[in-house]
Amino acid sequence: VGVLGSGDFARSLAIRLVCSGFKVVVGSRNPKRKAGLFPSAAEVTFQAEAVKKTDVIFVAVFREHYSTLCDLADVLAGKILVDVSNNTEINHHKESNAEYLASLFPACTVVKGFNVISAWTLQSGARDGNKQVLICSNNQEAKRTVAEIAQVMGFTPVDMGCMSSACEIENIPLRLLPAWKIPIFLALGLFLCFFTYNLIRQVIHPYIREQKNKLYKIPIEVVNTTLPCVAYVMLSLVYLPGVLAACSQLYYGTKYRRFPDWLDQWLQHRKQIGLLSFFCAALHAVYSFCLPMRRSHRYQLIETAVKQALEKKMNVWVEEEVWRMEIYISVGIIALGLLSLLAITSLPSIANSLNWREFSFIQSTLGFIALVISTLHTLTYGWSRAFDENQYKFYLPPTYTLTLLVPCTVILAKVIFSLPCIQQRLLRIRRGWEKGRYVKFVLPSATGEYSSGETSSNV
Ligand code: NAP
Repeated sequence: VGVLGSGDFARSLAIRLVCSGFKVVVGSRNPKRKAGLFPSAAEVTFQAEAVKKTDVIFVAVFREHYSTLCDLADVLAGKILVDVSNNTEINHHKESNAEYLASLFPACTVVKGFNVISAWTLQSGARDGNKQVLICSNNQEAKRTVAEIAQVMGFTPVDMGCMSSACEIENIPLRLLPAWKIPIFLALGLFLCFFTYNLIRQVIHPYIREQKNKLYKIPIEVVNTTLPCVAYVMLSLVYLPGVLAACSQLYYGTKYRRFPDWLDQWLQHRKQIGLLSFFCAALHAVYSFCLPMRRSHRYQLIETAVKQALEKKMNVWVEEEVWRMEIYISVGIIALGLLSLLAITSLPSIANSLNWREFSFIQSTLGFIALVISTLHTLTYGWSRAFDENQYKFYLPPTYTLTLLVPCTVILAKVIFSLPCIQQRLLRIRRGWEKGRYVKFVLPSATGEYSSGETSSNV
């Protein structure tokens, strides 16, 4: 196998190829200077020499320098060129790098591949990091040859079709968290809404009504009352699209009708939404843990103690408050534990070790239990505040009452769906039954002969 270039990628590629048992010839413009960088088993020579000796050549050179290889056109004729290059921007050029290479060397067969693998992954082997090598070419035979090389190197070749896919393959390493964009914007949007709402209630209201400066609450208290709201609502948004999908299936009486695009997208982003919910819940736990460390908290404690002493109050134990806090913290810890379990099992390496039933039990059943326990956590936090008119700052209800809306809707819907009459119908629909679809049936007649007819499968 030949490698043109002696940079980071070429070096890692040569090491991996040598380790996988290939005879490697590296083509460099300055072989003497670069030879020491390669394993001794690899031959480092001039570009033309390397090309002459090999049939499959990896072009580990940037696109901008492809034209400098044109002198090699004659020796390259009839060989397979593997384009491993990446761009610096998505859709940077009109044509993909591989198509450009093919246009410069029409007598060669060009295969796009290995660009999604970093030099580091190549060196450390296919044990860590990405294992998939996306390959495309207009020549099936050449594609198969490169796929075989990838397989021997320990990677998983993925056939991406013909050369027109090269652009898409080249864009993959440049995309920044494509599946996370919508969930992140959703989380940020919710955070901003709840943060503003809490800021009005906790900082702006006391300032306007009582001229009290509560700005110190912004970095920790306001953030810490916002984070659980986001975590809780995001968790309910993981289960809401499932409820909407079930409603649609019940309404239309079929599972074969396509969901609207927005619902499809939402269903596909549930994992990311769930992980962001876990992230916010974990931050909330850390923030809550740090609340007693604040100076403001200590001053308030001393202030209360002094007041009680002056009022000669000895027993300040409020049984109901004690119980409320014990239960509130306990269910909070359980909810966080369940969320951690959901997050861990959504990792591909763990998810792959579970069968479908185990995965669905954890993600669906335990996830729903986590939502119910989070609701208990929220209710024990809010307790009777919803019925206390002092809690309605500027007529705004306590934040926790707002957060309960979506999760309670989801829980209620799930309870309704678990009623035997609805559950049975949903189950039948999900096994292929359709409303109003007529099926042929055959019945024995009174005379013992069989007569055929049609009836609705509803019957
Ligand atoms: P690099 O370290 O800069 O190496 C590029 C090599 O190209 C040089 O060492 C040079 O070798 C050779 N070259 C040939 N003609 C040249 C010319 N006219 N001017 C300058 N250099 C010339 O780059 P790299 O990181 O190895 O990347 C090489 C290719 O692999 C790029 O297309 C890149 O997109 C792709 N890639 C890299 C990675 C990665 O992790 N680094 C991952 C995926 C894809 P000689 O001096 O010996 O001729």
